[in-house]
Amino acid sequence: MQYLKERKMVLEVAQKINKEKMVPGTWGNVSLKIKDQPLLLITPSGMKYETMTIDDIVLLDLAGEVVEGERIPSIEKHLHAHIYEQRSDVGAIVHVHTIHASAFAVAGKSIPVVLEETAQVIGHTVPVASYAPCGTDQLARQTVQTLGEGNAVLLANHGLVGVGADLNQALCVCQVAEKTAQVCLLAASLGQINELCPEDISLLRKQFADYGQNKKK
Ligand SMILES: [Zn+2]
Repeated sequence: MQYLKERKMVLEVAQKINKEKMVPGTWGNVSLKIKDQPLLLITPSGMKYETMTIDDIVLLDLAGEVVEGERIPSIEKHLHAHIYEQRSDVGAIVHVHTIHASAFAVAGKSIPVVLEETAQVIGHTVPVASYAPCGTDQLARQTVQTLGEGNAVLLANHGLVGVGADLNQALCVCQVAEKTAQVCLLAASLGQINELCPEDISLLRKQFADYGQNKKK
């Protein structure tokens, strides 16, 4: 079997989204682009996260065809493949069905940049892609179009997609988008939502690139 280390990384993040209750049941999916190859690893369709193993992770080409693996790949394989095709900077994708982000997706409202970490990790308002049924090419196309050059996008009446250079980044984007959505709903109940201004967002984003151990020596 190829790409053992990468398979393990996909499995770990898949089990994390389950443990953190970011998905009910077997919903949601995780993928990783194979560096410098037109290939990706993706979680299987409709299998329990608790008992999933690295053998269940499926290797696909960018047309969504199975290259290696016995399992049926995630229903959202086209969405993942299409994002990798359009965005060479994206190395991993996490798709979850968290409650507060889903509330914005149902209301058809973007998640605004209200927290410093929203500015740092995501850097933009999280837009909503128009509704299309799950697993369709239409959903894949609309998601890529609405995501643009961003890091996160809501799928109307469905859930949230986060992308990143690696799996940890893509997961962090989903965690921060969900927290931001939750905080917005709580702040709205207090009567006011104050958004960060574009200048502060861009300053925070730049600072964050140099944050912690990333600081250039
Ligand atoms: Zn979904």
